[in-house]
Amino acid sequence: MGLIPYRFLMTRFARRMDQVEVSGIRRIFDLVEGMNDAVDFSLGQPDFEVPEPVRRAAVAAIQSGSNKYTVTQGLPALVERVKDEMKRRGGFKDGGVIVTAGSAGALFLALGVLAEEGDEVLVPDPYFVLYKHVVRFFGAKPVFLDTYPDFRLRPEKIEGAVTPRTRFLLFNNPVNPTGMAYTADEVAAVAAVARKHRIQVLSDEIYDAFVYDFPHEPILKHDPDAVLVGGFSKKFGITGWRLGFAAGPREIIDKMAMLQQFSFVCAPSTAQAAALAAFDVDMTSCIQQYRMKRDLLVDGLKDRYELVRPQGAFYLFPKCPWGSDEEFVRRAIEARCLVVPGRACSERGTHFRISYAQPEEKLRRGIDVLNQIARR
Ligand code: PMP
Repeated sequence: MGLIPYRFLMTRFARRMDQVEVSGIRRIFDLVEGMNDAVDFSLGQPDFEVPEPVRRAAVAAIQSGSNKYTVTQGLPALVERVKDEMKRRGGFKDGGVIVTAGSAGALFLALGVLAEEGDEVLVPDPYFVLYKHVVRFFGAKPVFLDTYPDFRLRPEKIEGAVTPRTRFLLFNNPVNPTGMAYTADEVAAVAAVARKHRIQVLSDEIYDAFVYDFPHEPILKHDPDAVLVGGFSKKFGITGWRLGFAAGPREIIDKMAMLQQFSFVCAPSTAQAAALAAFDVDMTSCIQQYRMKRDLLVDGLKDRYELVRPQGAFYLFPKCPWGSDEEFVRRAIEARCLVVPGRACSERGTHFRISYAQPEEKLRRGIDVLNQIARR
């Protein structure tokens, strides 16, 4: 038997990677390179500038030497601010908070400390791309709850999917990619059915600031045992700073801190320092602009597209007017409008995602292009 080439040894991947695929959104994003004049409706990040006080605070943090590791849990002052905010919103009493490397980091840690091989995780479909891959990475099994055609998760859907192995519900409110937001009654109903079946709720509320038609309803008001995942990326336009948090039962948060200690170590120190300043910044006018963008897009597309009016986040998830999602998206990209095929965030391939976090002029151009290609 000959020697196994070194390169071969290097490229034998862990089996847990078998189920992790390239994100459909990234694939589209790669096409943008060199397409400067395209209308980019593909990536979910705000188009507004980071507020001046937040930028100044980040620079000041660097200049004044806040460049070292922080404690694993996060800067104590920031942890306290997040706790105060959670209390103010309701439902949070004496739980724990951990500051994480993005809310994606919080989801990774939460599933990392909770999900057991073979556990079933309820994932409302359409879903944020990351969920199914992280669930599978930790050996658990995503069980998709189809929410088409109106994209609202109802208690009966959860009831119908529960098995003895069901342990988690990955709730997202408002939802990426559909833009659905849940009312207080709906959140209460989801929490009640989860409690009835002893399902641990992980509630991803990163878009909580982007709710346009009624107040955002935190899960903790209805389920004190839930883990709420929150973030700063979207609200302050700092997606690259990698800052998020989780709030929930102390034992769970402490375990997440243990895993963070041996993985991310801590969230970026300068971003943490800047986030303290962010709490005092009023983002209302930015959010109002996003509500207007929502209205502009819905009004511009509703005659040619079958769509559900979103109430939050900055996404629209229309049905493809012809062909599969991939055929339609290919046509949109040829017409220089970058959108995401539905199957990147769903088990179905019938819709496509528009991120309307774009300047108004681009939105208008995108609407024109999409209306032109609505008929084959
Ligand atoms: N959850 C949802 C629903 C998201 O859309 C995103 C980002 N697209 C994240 C989490 C991750 O955000 P962060 O930048 O805080 O990691």
